Parts: sequence; structure tokens; C-alpha cells
Amino acid sequence: MKHQPFESWLYEREVLTKDQARDLEDHLEICDSCRALATAWTDIEGQLYSASLVAPAPGFSRRWRAHLADHRRRANHRQMSAMLLMTTAGLAVLSVLFGAELLPLLEPAVPTLVAWGGKVASLVANLNMFRLIMGILVEATVENVPLVYRVVLPLSLAGLAAFWVISIYRLSYRRIRKE
Ligand SMILES: [Zn+2]
Repeated sequence: MKHQPFESWLYEREVLTKDQARDLEDHLEICDSCRALATAWTDIEGQLYSASLVAPAPGFSRRWRAHLADHRRRANHRQMSAMLLMTTAGLAVLSVLFGAELLPLLEPAVPTLVAWGGKVASLVANLNMFRLIMGILVEATVENVPLVYRVVLPLSLAGLAAFWVISIYRLSYRRIRKE
């Protein structure tokens, strides 16, 4: 028995013409093989439809949003910590550079340098304090702060810190020259 085009038509029943549909029905009545195929296909289609209609567990979207918010908060924390770490590292490098420049003047200026070191130490302590405060602020406002502030703020703070260190250095340097 010839099964084509009926076999193909089984999979595209919605687009058959009236004549084609009638021919298919006629063939299915006399052909066991194609009828078995039609039944199997109908079963599979039914399973596909019911599978796609299964709803997610209740509260799914709320849980997902909470998970997303948590993930964002962690990412922001990491970003902020990295930024502050970079600032601290930059300050350490600046200290080393300025320290090396000051070496020839070290002998007569030990007390000043000690004071300068104390200033750097307090600066680092202040930075740590600042990091703490920022952490709390970020925790509270990160969802509402536009991205640009999250980048601009740490950058301007880094600039400010660098300016601070340079000012301290210049002050100490002037004092050393006077002595
Ligand atoms: Zn057939």
C-alpha cells in the first residue's frame, strides 16, 4: 500500500485542504500502519501541550527576584571592595615612591618622617572606617543609586585620597626644607 503523501499529512493536519483532509481520513480507515502513526502522534502532541502548560511552583518569581537582588548586592559589595583595595594599594605605592624620594633627606628629618608615617597610618585607618560606612550606605541604597554614582563616587574618593597624600607629602617636604 502507498502511504505517501498521507504519512506527511499526519504532521500538518491543520494546513490541509478539505479534499486532502477527506483523502487522509479515507486512507486512515483502510491503513493500520498510518492509523497507528496518527494515534502515536496525537499522544505526543497532547503530552507536549500539557508539559508546556505546567505552571512553576508558587512564589517562583518572588524567590527569583530575591535571589537576583541578593546576587546584585554581593556583586556591588565586591566592586566596592575592589575599588577600595585599589585605592589602598595606590596609596601604598605612592607612600613607597615618596618615601624613596625622601631617603636622602632621611637623616635630618626622622621626627618629621615618623609624624608623616603616623599620618599615613591614620589615613589608612580612616579609609577602613570609610569603607565600613560606605558598606552600610551601599547596603541601604544600592538598589536606588544609579550606576554612574557607583563608579563616580569611588573614583572621586580615590582622587581625593591621592590629593590628600600629596598634600601631606608637600607639607612634610616644605618642613624638611626649612629644617
Ligand atoms: Zn498508510
